[in-house]
Amino acid sequence: MDKYHQLIKFIRNAYSTPEAFIPLHEPRFSGNEKAYVADAIDSTFVSSVGEYVNRFEQMMCDITGAKYAIATVNGTSALHVALQLAGVEKGDEVITQALSFIATANAINYTGARPVFLDVDRHTMGLSPVTLELWLKKNVELKEVKAGSSQSNTQSQPFNKITGRRIAAIVPMHTFGHPVELDDIIEIANRYNIPVVEDAAESLGSYYKNEHTGTRGILGAFSFNGNKTVTCGGGGAIVTNDEKLARIAKHITTTAKVPHPYEYTHDMVGYNYRMPNLNAALACAQLENLKDFVINKRNWANKLEQFCQNHELDFIKEPGNTKSNYWLNAICLKNRDERDKVLKLLNKEGVMCRPIWTLLYKMPMYADCFRDEQTNAQWLEDRIVNIPSSVI
Ligand SMILES: *Cc1c(COP(=O)(O)O)cnc(C)c1O
Repeated sequence: MDKYHQLIKFIRNAYSTPEAFIPLHEPRFSGNEKAYVADAIDSTFVSSVGEYVNRFEQMMCDITGAKYAIATVNGTSALHVALQLAGVEKGDEVITQALSFIATANAINYTGARPVFLDVDRHTMGLSPVTLELWLKKNVELKEVKAGSSQSNTQSQPFNKITGRRIAAIVPMHTFGHPVELDDIIEIANRYNIPVVEDAAESLGSYYKNEHTGTRGILGAFSFNGNKTVTCGGGGAIVTNDEKLARIAKHITTTAKVPHPYEYTHDMVGYNYRMPNLNAALACAQLENLKDFVINKRNWANKLEQFCQNHELDFIKEPGNTKSNYWLNAICLKNRDERDKVLKLLNKEGVMCRPIWTLLYKMPMYADCFRDEQTNAQWLEDRIVNIPSSVI
């Protein structure tokens, strides 16, 4: 038996599934999910307000250590609003990685800004601080811009020397739950006065130097989609330590309605990005299990790592100084042909596996965005395959 057939056998054994299809990541409902959802239904508060929404937001604060958490309808909307609150405006540019799920670029585009795609590091699969610094040094100048209404108040802001556009934010993404080099990225960003918004959609339960992902940038966005570590069908959350941003985030995601016993007044263009209480009920029950899920997933990742070591396969490990949730396990193959061979074989055998994303600039709507050489991102696109990662 070759090593790939042995891998199939190993995965089938682990999931005690000798024949049936094994998905890449399926949800696990083993706690209070049914009880809480039934309770939400009984209360009739199934929609945009309710106790479970408040409880969910509190739980997200407790888990991440962020001062404030705002529930949203999905991760994409969380990221969209986080970018808007970071100050991203129409005509701006936002630096991110091309090696990401499409939602990262879409959220940037919703603000009217355009993504600038910089390369990733191989060991984190996330935005490279070295590339970031070199690119900023070469392409960005700080200009004094009038701030506020007073003539004497100026602020130094970063502009792309080639396009003349303002660089309004940097969005690193924690690929498959493995944290990027946040310290370096934030230190560089601070020197250029650029806010960092973390796309932490995949990294609930992941820590960078003992701090939860999503909390180092001025805002962070999480997802509770069906394929994520914990899910509530669909859902998202914004986290921040900034009281004012938290207040606006809640306001703008709930149609910007001015509180009043009966009048409908709205003081800005808001969004209906609320997480329904029904979903929040599910989310609360799932969050109660997050710790156990992450232990379970790390244990499985550890076993896979050992297997790979013994079978000359390259398993992707968490970067140094981090504790990953190992949302999706990944192996790195020799080249694109080998990758295609593995994808074909495992999927044919009913063990679901997927390639890493196609780089975002290859999509027609982002083809004209600025990008650098993408050496590492392309290298990873040619080699990375995700293998089943559900809680066992
Ligand atoms: C899942 C995901 C999102 C979006 O989350 P949804 O809840 O599906 O809208 C955003 N960014 C990344 C990197 C993701 O993996």
